[in-house]
Amino acid sequence: MSQVRVRFAPSPTGFFHIGSARTALFNWLYARHTGGVFILRIEDTDKERNSDQFLNLIYDSLHWLGLNWDEGPKVGGEFGPYLQSQRGAVYREYLEKLKATGRTYEKDGATWFKLIGERSEVFDDHRKKTVTKVKTAPTVIDDLIRGRVERLEDEDFVIVRSDGNPVFHFTNVVDDIAMRITHVIRGEDHLSNTSKHVELFKAFGVPVPQFAHIPLILKQNGPGKMSKRDQGALIEEYQKRGFLPAALVNFLSLLGWNPGGDREKMPVEEIVRLFDLPGVNQSNARFDDKKLAHVNMLYLLELPPDTFVEKARQYFEAQHPDAPALKAKAAYFRDVMLLSQPKIKGLEELPAYTAYFFTEDYVVDPKVREKVMAKGDPKARLHELIGALAVFDFSTDSAIEDSIKNLGGRHNLAFGDYQAVARLGVSGTNAGPSITGMFRLLGREKVEERLKRLLGS
Ligand code: GLU
Repeated sequence: MSQVRVRFAPSPTGFFHIGSARTALFNWLYARHTGGVFILRIEDTDKERNSDQFLNLIYDSLHWLGLNWDEGPKVGGEFGPYLQSQRGAVYREYLEKLKATGRTYEKDGATWFKLIGERSEVFDDHRKKTVTKVKTAPTVIDDLIRGRVERLEDEDFVIVRSDGNPVFHFTNVVDDIAMRITHVIRGEDHLSNTSKHVELFKAFGVPVPQFAHIPLILKQNGPGKMSKRDQGALIEEYQKRGFLPAALVNFLSLLGWNPGGDREKMPVEEIVRLFDLPGVNQSNARFDDKKLAHVNMLYLLELPPDTFVEKARQYFEAQHPDAPALKAKAAYFRDVMLLSQPKIKGLEELPAYTAYFFTEDYVVDPKVREKVMAKGDPKARLHELIGALAVFDFSTDSAIEDSIKNLGGRHNLAFGDYQAVARLGVSGTNAGPSITGMFRLLGREKVEERLKRLLGS
């Protein structure tokens, strides 16, 4: 078989959403899996709705996700230009070819594509114009995901509007021919256009590419397709929130594709190795932000310390440039971040999760406070802790643990009897990294100050 050539063909008319990202990813995976070519083609023929902002967003999002293209804008290639707005000459040339086959006619200033079959003119009340109905056989699409699909295309359709602009169906098919596309992998919303496309390919006398229509992404809650307005729909949002692109790629690959078993975290090399179009589900995939958060956590957990700290810093700098954390000493920042690494699901949790390490002005959760102060004799425990701090060994977590245990031993109590009140005292809450790690990083003085503050309040 000849080399696989696939394309991602977005229109720069809106934000880059996860449906587009997944279509791009499936094309990229298929190209990498087969040793084929991944092409980026920009379908920017809608002059009114295109914008440079959205175009750049396509480039940025693909770069961020690591979906590099082999041919397309910025990298060039044999079959360019890769922006439809620059391909007027190609469309004119192909229009002449089609005219030469006798499969077009002019009506109302537009150019129409002529289906084959017995014809009759019918006035369409709704559209207030005459259309040409054609008695013909259904078009058959052998879709790699959907299987055999039949659709009856029984009406001639416009390919070049009266203003001279070719329509989507025409430019899309011409470019797939001119760019030697072998597989058209795209969202299922285009299945309804495919019969028109197949008839055009046939009229040009070229082989019809293989089609693979990917199922829709359903919204997390409730019926219907995920739309650009749904929470979690935009790639930009994940970028801002500090998600790891590798985690998002992993998550997106599982939206509609099943590698077998219940595999979750898979390195991209393995996804490339296993990915194939028959493995894509026919049924729709439901978006699940908890699963995404979980996968992101798995990726965060295995980042080497330096990388994690670097990413944490980048996140603070981009989203919380005024955070006191950024004014702390680098070594302290590092220690706090590494203490938190195994405890968080996403970088976006870090500012709140670590706030009390960097300021005395941290929030004390009133509910937690009420609960902790109502159980046992917390004031007595605070007294005991404060009194013993001077002889605590602060050098390591286990030394701190031993110090607390020794203190407990003297009062016939256990480590656990001090935990909740100590935690409330130094952090204002009941969730966080290990209490011994917190003591170690905050140091004797701050711990003493904070415990005294709680006792006195
Ligand atoms: N420009 C079309 C879209 O953004 C792509 C159609 C296709 O992939 O064939 O939906």
